Amino acid sequence: MPRPIEALIHPGALAHNLGRARALAPDARVWAVVKANAYGHGIERVFDALRGADGFALLDLAEAERLRALDWRGPILLLEGCFEPRDLELCSRLNLWHAVHCEAQIDWLAAHKTHQPHRVFLKMNSGMNRLGFTPTAFRGAWARLNALPQVDEISLMTHFSDADGTRGIAHQVAAFEAATHDLPGERSLANSAAILRHLGAAAAGAPALRNDWVRAGILSYGSAPDFPEHDIAHWDLRPTMTLRSRLIGVQALQPGDTVGYGSAFTAEQPMRIGIVACGYADGYPRHCATGTPVLVEGTRTRTVGRVSMDMLAVDLTPVPGAQIGSEVTLWGEGPRGSRLPIDEVARAAGTIGYELMCALAPRVPVRGD
Ligand code: PLP
Repeated sequence: MPRPIEALIHPGALAHNLGRARALAPDARVWAVVKANAYGHGIERVFDALRGADGFALLDLAEAERLRALDWRGPILLLEGCFEPRDLELCSRLNLWHAVHCEAQIDWLAAHKTHQPHRVFLKMNSGMNRLGFTPTAFRGAWARLNALPQVDEISLMTHFSDADGTRGIAHQVAAFEAATHDLPGERSLANSAAILRHLGAAAAGAPALRNDWVRAGILSYGSAPDFPEHDIAHWDLRPTMTLRSRLIGVQALQPGDTVGYGSAFTAEQPMRIGIVACGYADGYPRHCATGTPVLVEGTRTRTVGRVSMDMLAVDLTPVPGAQIGSEVTLWGEGPRGSRLPIDEVARAAGTIGYELMCALAPRVPVRGD
């Protein structure tokens, strides 16, 4: 018997969530963001479910090659553009659209001998201060690109730092608009948080946002980590990844007994705990302290004590019938319609669903449901 742990990918949920992005941004085309191996899900595993998107956005040329190998002939956007001049050759060959965020990338294009002109997304740093031209430098960069025979279409993009947070997007939208209002070209601004908060039904009173392309990342994977006030059901999103295991041990504790390394949990009354075949070497966060939600046979309970490399312990008090072999859902869809959003587990670990999905360990077998 293999160790009883596996991750399930739910294609139906992926397709459903993509539909939600469309519904929330009905006037836009949708990039399905599949960087980081589709947020840990596997590009090949999500491809069929997400092929209804208008394009795929990612970072790596190798991942772009994998999409072309799946016979995807539609748009692919490299969100950070090229990392060195010779990448442009592959961009031409694979017909990739690519972001341009710095003068060096324009220099590379200017020196590039191409038979096929490039479509670029000129990126503005409107406040994130990560990648992009400042609003002041943006028009100069646009003029340089516009003069290059290697470039045949220039679209405009920026990325929000606080679409979910208290600062919001108004200051970045204003900076973007001021510098681009009379420039031609398609626009791409919104990530998941902006789609959910600023384009959707909840967006009454939000600044008008012209978006020809939205970039649907984390929402496609059924997570909305930036909104602790809401469960994903609030936006009718569905989990796309389930991590599940089984009990491989049961212990009866007396008051004063402790659990695991560091004796981080002490029983206050007689109780049963279950030992689950899942640890931090599977990608389950070690930072999850006692109290992290978990489902045993679909019933919600909590972890107790520290997470070990290969095991963790759960409180069986709410599930008296649990025994060795009982099913444990670490996140995602449980038995009999039960559900544990990944965001809840991430919050307990002081992180976000993105990190949990991406950190799923290679030793965990993954399959579609
Ligand atoms: N666009 C850009 C430029 C990004 O870097 C990212 C992710 O970091 C996304 C879109 C997708 O963001 P999210 O997963 O929050 O939708």
